[in-house]
Amino acid sequence: MKLPIALMLLGLVTGPLLAQDRDHVTVEDYDPVTLLKVPEHDVTAAKYPFVDVHSHWFGASTMRPGEVDTLIQEMDGMNMAVIVNLSGWSGERLAEGIENMEGRHPSRVVTFANLDFEGFGTDAWTRGAVRQLREDVELHGARGLKIYKSLGMRTVDVDGNRVAVDDPRLDAVWALAGELGIPVLIHSADPMGFWLPKDEHNEKWLELKLRPQRWMLPLGGPSFEDLLAEQHRVFARHPETTFINAHLGWLAPDLGRLGELFDRYPNVYSEVGAVLYDLGRQPFTARAFLTKYKDRILFGKDAYAVAEYHYYFRTFETRDEYFDYYRKYHAQWKLYGLDLPDDVLRHIYYKNALRIIPGLDPALFPAE
Ligand SMILES: [Zn+2]
Repeated sequence: MKLPIALMLLGLVTGPLLAQDRDHVTVEDYDPVTLLKVPEHDVTAAKYPFVDVHSHWFGASTMRPGEVDTLIQEMDGMNMAVIVNLSGWSGERLAEGIENMEGRHPSRVVTFANLDFEGFGTDAWTRGAVRQLREDVELHGARGLKIYKSLGMRTVDVDGNRVAVDDPRLDAVWALAGELGIPVLIHSADPMGFWLPKDEHNEKWLELKLRPQRWMLPLGGPSFEDLLAEQHRVFARHPETTFINAHLGWLAPDLGRLGELFDRYPNVYSEVGAVLYDLGRQPFTARAFLTKYKDRILFGKDAYAVAEYHYYFRTFETRDEYFDYYRKYHAQWKLYGLDLPDDVLRHIYYKNALRIIPGLDPALFPAE
């Protein structure tokens, strides 16, 4: 054989091989396809009708009838009985949003009001907030109060100082929520990894690399533990007020500690929005925890996306193993189904919501 032909043949063999030999794959790109063959279930609708207590419809006041009808159709497809819009704002804007979303489907949508922290720090602010919240609930029909994580992290008072979650100038608001019989869904802090060094040991490294503004450590603000302590002091000071601690209180990596919080404060509930990845990676611990505290956990999703709800149903209802979470930068690890007992599913899906959110229609849920 002549030399050029031999070289050409060698190239035919090694060329494709070299293309398949990549020694340098970045962590961001590494996306192995599992060779594991185990049963898979795409659960597109929940086993029982459920209430999503954590959704955001910031534009409710300008929503068109067709958009609301589409939402209700999608909810029907997932067996979602009720959706809670936590972003109701207040005053006229709240009233318009409630009219748009609840007007045509009165039993299917619930709206929570929000506080406007502009001018916070004066007695007038506190008096105004109390008057506004009472009006939002009694006149406009809000059925809860949602507090964003900005409280404690970004909100400043009229003097430019950070407002702590347990600032006493908010006590009248928490007390009023208790008096009105509405729950306060409160989001404080963020995943603990955001306060850790952004290095090879941080399990949130990929998220911090892709979303650098989420890294809290260099900002010099309150620590993760500071924020949780402030929030827990609010729970302690207002035993007559029902609080829904959003995102499992960011304690899902330490469910034992969340259990202690529930034991200490009977007025505290929580919801699973956007932390499914922490439950699905500890199926045995999570199953035992959710069974023990089935009276305290509600279903929540946060960002609305139909296909993503399917992961919640799959994680709660199946025994599937080693499947992906829907957002790799939140969790580059795999999830496992918890195979929750029916009684636990019913509590998380609707029974607890029926108990603590006023005005839900029991006819939407199984009698028993
Ligand atoms: Zn949210």
